[in-house]
Amino acid sequence: MAALTGGCACGRVRYRLNEAPLFTYACHCTDCQRTTGSAFVIHSTVARQDFEIEGETRSVMLPTDSGAGYDIHFCANCSTYIWCIYHMRSDPVLIIRAGTFDDAAKIKPGAHIFTDSMQPWFRLPEDVPSFQAAFDRNLTWPVESLDKLAGLIARA
Ligand SMILES: [Zn+2]
Ligand SMILES: [Zn+2]
Repeated sequence: MAALTGGCACGRVRYRLNEAPLFTYACHCTDCQRTTGSAFVIHSTVARQDFEIEGETRSVMLPTDSGAGYDIHFCANCSTYIWCIYHMRSDPVLIIRAGTFDDAAKIKPGAHIFTDSMQPWFRLPEDVPSFQAAFDRNLTWPVESLDKLAGLIARA
């Protein structure tokens, strides 16, 4: 796969993803609705080692239902949210907000989660699995991605 690139709205922050995301999903939880100002977020989970970023960013820690919290990282100039890290898991991954990819149309969610809080007018695609709360990645991620993650954890 050719590297995927992306960045913020003002162009000062640019990133490059050297390998395909491990998995991409749409999250309909109320936290994601609020921080995006939209109906849901599209999140691509990627290996930290595959992610290169240039430009000044800031971050803020926000609460999650688990109590562990998560950090959202955004452009220091225009405040576009670019990626986040959840503290509940210590896996060597981070999550890119997929709307920031230059070619976001190449990224398609492989699952819809937290559909309990989904906006009532949104219609779920029939060919994509959906979950009322979080998903079990062993049931949703491609085997290659599970294998890659296991390797990353073993080496971390
Ligand atoms: Zn910016
Ligand atoms: Zn969410």
